[in-house]
Amino acid sequence: MSKLSVTKDGDAGRPESAPSGLVVMDNVNKHFGALHVLQDIDLTIERGEVVVVIGPSGSGKSTLCRTINRLETIDSGYIAIDGKPLPQEGKELAKLRADVGMVFQSFNLFAHKTVLENVTLGQLKVRKTDKKAADEQARRLLDRVGVANQADKYPAQLSGGQQQRVAIARALAMDPKVMLFDEPTSALDPEMINEVLEVMQQLAREGMTMVVVTHEMGFARSAANRVVFMADGKIVEEATPDQFFSNPRSERAKDFLSKIL
Ligand code: ADP
Ligand code: MG
Repeated sequence: MSKLSVTKDGDAGRPESAPSGLVVMDNVNKHFGALHVLQDIDLTIERGEVVVVIGPSGSGKSTLCRTINRLETIDSGYIAIDGKPLPQEGKELAKLRADVGMVFQSFNLFAHKTVLENVTLGQLKVRKTDKKAADEQARRLLDRVGVANQADKYPAQLSGGQQQRVAIARALAMDPKVMLFDEPTSALDPEMINEVLEVMQQLAREGMTMVVVTHEMGFARSAANRVVFMADGKIVEEATPDQFFSNPRSERAKDFLSKIL
């Protein structure tokens, strides 16, 4: 990998010949105290690519996602979205964050706002869209994720699967360049998992660039262009889903797959 000076995140750590992916992580390191949670992470995600990240609990998957939209800082290395290094703070950071949609395990909808208001909020505040246009776009997105008739309800009146689909619509409302999903179905009752995975499948088919942390191996097999296997803060293996599931190379991956499949 290219030579890097050790810097806080920002332009100074930029590799001399920067790779051209939509998301570029170059030699990223992060510690939580003594824990080296991300170790020399090199990961390039191309436009339109769907990358599924799997690995044991505690391996750093969530932290990796959170560094991509700067919910976590990094200690050294370089991260860029669409050629722009992650800014440290301020307006630039807010703008860049808007390019990165994120959907969490817990849906994180605003309880005191309606479904429609949850989806329009970011557009009104960050994108400064006028209300009529924001409402129209939100209704289109709610229709796209199959909950158009829930627009005027409050989150608590919806099922978990419906709430998560609203969370996806809310992220899409910012017209992101990449969508990050961190175990989006892990908190759902089993009968609701598929309705969320189907929306994600559809997004993938439409060409959305996606990073998906999930234990849903069926989704990984059918939607992923690439599987990234993490263990102990490192990317241990990267392969196509076919290669990875039929012929994992590392002992760590073999061991992991033997426990979940
Ligand atoms: P995963 O998503 O793969 O389960 P995480 O990225 O959540 O892993 O966590 C990786 C490791 O970092 C775990 O050991 C976790 O306890 C630790 N960790 C995560 N967030 C923090 C934090 N804010 N402070 C201290 N340790 C953390
Ligand atoms: Mg996690």
